[in-house]
Amino acid sequence: MKILVINCGSSSLKYQVIDTADGSVLAKGLCERIGIDGAFTYQNVRDNGPRDKREAEIKDHKAGINLVLNALTDSQNGVLHSLDEIDAVGHRIVHGGEKFTESVIIDSEVIKGIRDVSDLAPLHNPANLTGILACQALMPHTPMVAVFDTSFHQTMPKKAYMYALPLKYYNKYKVRKYGFHGTSHAFVSRSVAAYLGKKPEELKTIVCHLGNGASVSAVQYGKCIDTSMGLTPLAGLIMGTRCGDIDPAVGNYICNVEHISAEEFNSIMNKESGVYALSNGLSSDFRDLWTAREKGDKYATLALDAWAYRVAKTVGAYAAAMNGVDVIAFTAGVGENDTQSRKLVYDYFGYLGVKIDEEKNAATRGEVATISTPDSKVAVVVYPTNEELAIAQDTEKLVSALNERIEHRTEKKEAQKYENITK
Ligand code: ADP
Repeated sequence: MKILVINCGSSSLKYQVIDTADGSVLAKGLCERIGIDGAFTYQNVRDNGPRDKREAEIKDHKAGINLVLNALTDSQNGVLHSLDEIDAVGHRIVHGGEKFTESVIIDSEVIKGIRDVSDLAPLHNPANLTGILACQALMPHTPMVAVFDTSFHQTMPKKAYMYALPLKYYNKYKVRKYGFHGTSHAFVSRSVAAYLGKKPEELKTIVCHLGNGASVSAVQYGKCIDTSMGLTPLAGLIMGTRCGDIDPAVGNYICNVEHISAEEFNSIMNKESGVYALSNGLSSDFRDLWTAREKGDKYATLALDAWAYRVAKTVGAYAAAMNGVDVIAFTAGVGENDTQSRKLVYDYFGYLGVKIDEEKNAATRGEVATISTPDSKVAVVVYPTNEELAIAQDTEKLVSALNERIEHRTEKKEAQKYENITK
């Protein structure tokens, strides 16, 4: 199947066309600054085309999708003869609340459900919905699927997801841990199992998704039992610009002494904290931090040490939660590419019986590899995540099942018609 994957933010829209027969990307790109001054990027990946970026008036998401569809069917540089070649559209949706425990075919009920949980992700879900509505307007007969960042984590037991707060906050507002990056944790945990020649049901896996946003998950026998992000993606690890876990009373204290509002402090915790803050405002990019650390910069050194310490503590907590671990997987921008940051983390793993092939680690960037030694008690694997492919695979699975149901119903109707005629 050819699947258009859409990841819609408030002012941006990322897209890819994936052929699920071999997982290849046919085309990809980005609409940026939607509703502002607009920029459009398109790349024909199938033919190794260049990445074209141009200014474009993109007044809203529908205009953005229109540009995407025109580029995909362009007679010179397109990858499709007509839009009919798109078998389905897969939409990334940030928050599924407790309602969506797996990916679903989009209908009016689902749209209502996504809207109902928008309070939990006010910046993301409304933008995701805009993308769905724009696609439906332009491709009214193409089936669409919603794939949620939260659904993989819905298998967490209550003891893992409840906050020790008055129960009314959960009962009235569904305040609890949800977790994010679920598509990535699901994709990496099942792919790593296949790579190791095992079934997910045979393994206790800890996935470290370490990018600008970062989270760790504990996946026991194929099911997520805990993860480090919470009600929002602010919880857990130290990230590029997010603080992760801090004493919850810090907010109140800072708001009082600095005379700022809760909203302002929330923005500081999301956009001005993390390794960016600890490096004294140097950078949120790990490449910059390592360059500075190598020159002896004490702030960059602290930022990386604190970041790695938090990752390692979380891995330790999840090894305890599962009473052991068989595989630790590194993924996302830092986890896949940054050999030095990986080392800062795995140097804490000695107590688990982890042994690392240092040369293998140093040589592994952006590719699948086992970086532990054959006699290591725990396999340590680098596995590049591919959230778009995971969305396309889920979309294909659901749309194939839908098509089968429709075919079955049509066959039944035809058979009945024939029976009636021949009676
Ligand atoms: P997100 O999807 O959360 O924006 P990514 O998973 O794309 O983040 O990761 C982005 C981060 O990965 C960058 O901020 C950078 O620090 C890090 N990164 C990417 N490539 C490299 C590399 N080759 N070496 C070191 N760090 C890298």
